[in-house]
Amino acid sequence: MKPIHAYGAESETSGVHPMTVERRDPRPDDVLIEIDYCGVCHSDLHFVNNDWGMTDYPVVPGHEIVGTVTAVGDDVTRFEVGQRVGVGCLVDSCRDCPSCDEGLEQYCLKGFVGTYNGEDLHDGRKTYGGYSERIVVSERFVLDIPDSLDPAAAAPLLCAGITTYSPLRHFGVKAGDRVAIVGMGGLGHMGIKFARAMGAEVTVFSRSEGKRSEIERLGAHHMVISTDEEQMEAVAGRFDYILNTVPVQHDLNPYVAALKPDGTMILVGLLEPIEPALEAGPIVFARRRLAGSLIGGLPETQEMLDFCAEHDIVSDIEMLDIKNINEAYKRMQDSDVRYRFVIDMNSLKGD
Ligand code: ZN
Ligand code: ZN
Repeated sequence: MKPIHAYGAESETSGVHPMTVERRDPRPDDVLIEIDYCGVCHSDLHFVNNDWGMTDYPVVPGHEIVGTVTAVGDDVTRFEVGQRVGVGCLVDSCRDCPSCDEGLEQYCLKGFVGTYNGEDLHDGRKTYGGYSERIVVSERFVLDIPDSLDPAAAAPLLCAGITTYSPLRHFGVKAGDRVAIVGMGGLGHMGIKFARAMGAEVTVFSRSEGKRSEIERLGAHHMVISTDEEQMEAVAGRFDYILNTVPVQHDLNPYVAALKPDGTMILVGLLEPIEPALEAGPIVFARRRLAGSLIGGLPETQEMLDFCAEHDIVSDIEMLDIKNINEAYKRMQDSDVRYRFVIDMNSLKGD
């Protein structure tokens, strides 16, 4: 095992600061990756603060990793030294259940191994994320980053990107469909780009007029002020799909009403009980669907990256020195980032 430099948290109150963790010795199917960039996801902040009550300290966050291959095991066939690669939210799974067999490792029946705060199913060791110098990952969980993508701006594709791409693809968005996005953060801004690239007519629900120019810049066709009852009534029964990225409790009923008969609303951010209560009538009477979706499996994540290369899509980012990570968290809590922070990991190597 090799000690490496990292940034992590030791307790709920410690914030993120420099620490040393150990990476496993490479196995025959492992890829050794020098980390160049790491996106900052809201989950990172929640794990650092133990907001979900499941943090096993110390925790080294980071699951939007882009780096360069520095060594490969003897059994590795898809990667070579010098190649630009990515690692997302998953670093392992049982590899043996029906979900894994289908390449849906995120729905592994034994539970996937998270890139951080996870426990390796094969050796029981704790996993540490991308706020670090390097990472060792089994080939199956490593992605090729197409050369045409800016590597820093590609990092958020590995969580924010796949989280929005996967449901749009899975539920069948096609050219001409009317797709609405709820929430304009890291996820929502990617949802706009993907839905637009898939040929949909894209609408964004926003609580205020102030975001109109941003929403248009990102490629949406329309904006609806969700607090304006008249505007909401005007879009009743309008949308084939609504991608709801809002992570906090909010009233879903007005959005259900905005779906066409047979329309689908997909939740990708909300992990809490639905309140106020969901009215079943509007769902039953128009055969509408409420669905959920979690990140994506490895084959679909690669498909998403290739789609991004084809359509020239990356995340809008703000680069960050790792020393400023705690300030960045504060700004994220105030929704003061367009739309994802990405850590330049050279700033760690300079320590
Ligand atoms: Zn994430
Ligand atoms: Zn499995």
